[in-house]
Amino acid sequence: MQVPARFEYEVAGSVGEAAELLERYGEGARLIAGGHSLIPMMKLRLAAPEVLVDISGLDRELRYIEDEGGALKIGALTRHREVLESPVVGERYALLADAERMIADPLVRNMGTIGGDLANADPAEDLPAAFVALDSQVVVRGTNGERTVHIDDLYVGPYETSLDHGEVLTEVRVPRSPGGSAYSKVKRKTGDYAAAAIGVALSMGGEEIESIRIGLCGVGSRTLRARSAEDALTGERPGSEACRRAGEIAAEECDPIEDAKGSVEYKRDLVRVLLGRTVARAVGRAGGREV
Ligand SMILES: Cc1cc2nc3c(=O)[nH]c(=O)nc-3n(C[C@H](O)[C@H](O)[C@H](O)COP(=O)(O)OP(=O)(O)OC[C@H]3O[C@@H](n4cnc5c(N)ncnc54)[C@H](O)[C@@H]3O)c2cc1C
Repeated sequence: MQVPARFEYEVAGSVGEAAELLERYGEGARLIAGGHSLIPMMKLRLAAPEVLVDISGLDRELRYIEDEGGALKIGALTRHREVLESPVVGERYALLADAERMIADPLVRNMGTIGGDLANADPAEDLPAAFVALDSQVVVRGTNGERTVHIDDLYVGPYETSLDHGEVLTEVRVPRSPGGSAYSKVKRKTGDYAAAAIGVALSMGGEEIESIRIGLCGVGSRTLRARSAEDALTGERPGSEACRRAGEIAAEECDPIEDAKGSVEYKRDLVRVLLGRTVARAVGRAGGREV
């Protein structure tokens, strides 16, 4: 039987109160939203918070998807399922819909939140890589006020973000929709985390890739951005040779470990192959085609 260690439980009535409770109880306190990552970790005693601060009731403040002036804003308590089913996401942020379709199973997608996925900083979680490709920012609020953190600066290690202890992640923002985007993932079975996954968002200037961002999931000790592969593709026609070369570069840029999902070489190989396929789908979508 898996039983968590003893803990106290507080229900926050607002984001401000959640931040105050975190500050009051100090390092031993942890937020809980959907509980789909934290409770399993507590049951395995990989986490033993002294106090849980429950923010799951803050729907009015934190559960929304807005398309404002061309920017996408998703509140931290929005569920995976709501992102998957959002028309604006489906039409303009295809990689998010691709990623959500492959996250876990309907039970987890019904309860797991976007904020919990991003704040958990598990390098095998899909949304950090998807939002890295989308050049996103997260909004966080603490007792000292609100600030934004670029996603490139958010992940510092496995299960570790650059957020301060008392800060609540309230929103993720994508400043503009990409010309085309796609997300590809290989997993052993339905509901599993990625052996490797790649998110690509790009814009085309005529026949050439004008700008591109590539997020990598499951192939490093944190979510990675494949910057050298991005450089190799920028200004290029996205033919098979350019994609093959970029795939080789990305396979060298990542840093997978051997585990039950595969060997280091297998995961590098997945990155090599998935990169070309994902770029081709994103380019196709930029031109209005599904490939
Ligand atoms: C069987 C299973 C399969 C899964 N498969 C996948 C998968 O394939 N891909 C994938 O990406 N994910 C997968 N997940 C993870 C799932 O997406 C996350 O568990 C879920 O999204 C986390 O959200 P939550 O609200 O449940 O977070 P919680 O478990 O409540 O919290 C997770 C962590 O984030 C912190 N936190 C929560 N909300 C905030 C906030 N607003 N601000 C700051 N910190 C916060 C908590 O303190 C905790 O440390 C899987 C989970 C399960 C159980």
